Amino acid sequence: MADPKANERMPPLETLGDPRLARPSAPVDLAEIPSAAFQERLSLLRLALEVHGANGVAAPQLGWFQRHFVMRDPGGSGALVHWVNPEIVTAGEELVWYWEGCLSVPGYKAYVGRSTAIAVRGYDERGEPVGREFTDWEAHLFQHEFDHLDGILFPYRVVDPRHMVTAEALERREEWPPDWPTPGAREAPIRQIRPADPPGGLTPKD
Ligand SMILES: [Zn+2]
Repeated sequence: MADPKANERMPPLETLGDPRLARPSAPVDLAEIPSAAFQERLSLLRLALEVHGANGVAAPQLGWFQRHFVMRDPGGSGALVHWVNPEIVTAGEELVWYWEGCLSVPGYKAYVGRSTAIAVRGYDERGEPVGREFTDWEAHLFQHEFDHLDGILFPYRVVDPRHMVTAEALERREEWPPDWPTPGAREAPIRQIRPADPPGGLTPKD
């Protein structure tokens, strides 16, 4: 690791039940982006993503109640992409369903449907405006991270309580009855992106 002290500076993960995670975060003042303090937060978000083997980490998960997150953008390279003050401009009505997890909801996975096509805009880590379109699991991931900025955790998106299971149970899903917990769920993919060079022994989460 480039900076051995970075781990010591990384705040602990906020988890489900902390009321602060369940409230909307404030927009980032764009003038703040170039500051050393803000860039340090971006650096620690990237570090948290790598250390925990995640696909995305939102600022509120580290106790910073500001509207930004980092996500792994597969676009070929699996590069880490920051989104500051993101907005979802359009979201298709058709849903795509994945099993998803979250660093802030340790030990659980849920079967969640989210828009399969979205158009988004926001700012990058330099404060430059960016617009993108995402489909399928990239759209799913973006919406999960975006939800953190509005104080929404994936259990709040679960439409049937039976759609939430332990990670251990999900690993044994081939033993489930065919239609458990709902038709199609047993065969649905677990949304994850393997980094090009995964950290040893870690399982990607959200
Ligand atoms: Zn999450």
